[in-house]
Amino acid sequence: MKIDIQIDPGAGLCFGVQRAIQMAEELLKKQDSLACLGDLIHNEEEVNRLKSKGLQVVSHCKIVEQSGKKLLLRAHGEPPSTFRIAENYDVELIDATCPIVSRLQKKVAKACEQMMVQKGQVILFGDINHAEIIALKGFCKGELHIVRDISDLEKLNPAKPTIFFSQTTKYKSDYLKVVKAYRQMRKKGEYTEYPLKVVSSVCKQIAKRDLQLIDFLQNKDVLVFVSGKESSNGNNLFRVGAKQVKKAYFISNSNELKADWFMSVKNIAISGATSTPLWLLKKTYSRIEELLS
Ligand code: SF4
Repeated sequence: MKIDIQIDPGAGLCFGVQRAIQMAEELLKKQDSLACLGDLIHNEEEVNRLKSKGLQVVSHCKIVEQSGKKLLLRAHGEPPSTFRIAENYDVELIDATCPIVSRLQKKVAKACEQMMVQKGQVILFGDINHAEIIALKGFCKGELHIVRDISDLEKLNPAKPTIFFSQTTKYKSDYLKVVKAYRQMRKKGEYTEYPLKVVSSVCKQIAKRDLQLIDFLQNKDVLVFVSGKESSNGNNLFRVGAKQVKKAYFISNSNELKADWFMSVKNIAISGATSTPLWLLKKTYSRIEELLS
């Protein structure tokens, strides 16, 4: 019996990362090499493909060495300090910050100013080491708290005006859980007279990705999930997907596939992170077909 293999129709690169890659490729048609500040995308295979075209990844301490040259900024954005250093050292920045992230930076900066006047606080649900959060912090004056999960809320004082935001790449369901816990803290302490504003800042391309994946995995036996090992979105989605199937495998490239994973299965589902390009999913599909033949 032929084994059914399907690629998740909801998988593939998000708009912001796709746009940044396109900008890099356009520039690499006109020049032999191009430096990018940090990995353009959390996917080693795609980074290697771009490196073969001339992309070089440089760290923040090397910005000054790009004096007189172009330097690409990735979709997650950069804090204002990066723009200042670039200006001081005559580095031409090519800003591939995702427009959705740019809008969030402006909103968070405005909210911080507003909360400074009202002696309130801004709470940002996200990962403190994520590039988007590092950039966002740079736009803020006043009281800003980064919370990773509900346990981080315990350190906060709910007796003040508050504006809540989420990192764009978080799941809406997780954001709502954290906000709900904060509302309960306010209620318990009888602080509900202080204004609370919850801004819906999860990117729509990500917001329901977990639910889409669960839907795609209905009645599937095996999940092959393709993602960079460093991708937080990839690791989170894999955890969600693994609960829906009998067997789940996390791979970064098609060489890691093994034929015995597919013994006695009726169907195979292939999915990936929002930083996994479609070509990599198609390559995985072809390799599985080879292993089954
Ligand atoms: S996840 Fe959304 S906000 Fe983040 S880069 Fe992609 S499109 Fe932009």
